[in-house]
Amino acid sequence: MEAVIVIDMLNDFVTGDIKCVRADRIIPKIKRLIRGARRKDVPVIYSNDAHLPNDFEMGRWGRHAIKGTKGAEVIPELKPTEKDYVVEKRVYSGFFETGLDSLLRSLHAETVILTGLHTHLCVRHTAADAFFRGYKIIIPNDAVESFTEKDHKEGLEYLKYAYNAEVTETDKIIERWEKR
Ligand code: ZN
Repeated sequence: MEAVIVIDMLNDFVTGDIKCVRADRIIPKIKRLIRGARRKDVPVIYSNDAHLPNDFEMGRWGRHAIKGTKGAEVIPELKPTEKDYVVEKRVYSGFFETGLDSLLRSLHAETVILTGLHTHLCVRHTAADAFFRGYKIIIPNDAVESFTEKDHKEGLEYLKYAYNAEVTETDKIIERWEKR
């Protein structure tokens, strides 16, 4: 079983305090992917920054995605449904001191499909922790992004190199599901 993980597609990351203009490109792809997933009962999990104002990360990026604020909400285009899961995090990795691992185990997920922001930061760190826990990792390269093309491309190369990630496209994943 697979699970789709949508990482940090939040107002502050897309249009707010740490805006990434390149995120626009991936919104329709993630939308298609999660729609396809829900249709096939593949679990959709949101891995969302929900910071306390004095979290360590603020020293690096400034204030962003403070728990309970509009900036920490998923962008309107990708709003979770009642069927989806939301797991809050306070560092780059979606696994670090969160319930993500036990959630995935309870869903019998052995493969994680990682989408969202940023290829070289939260996607990479979440992939690292997934790899350490024995999950197979799939990355649709048109559903992850970074601030720059360089960060994105190098991020993808590293995911393949270090975590044996299968880098593919959104439509290919959906096609596979439709054949089942
Ligand atoms: Zn953060």
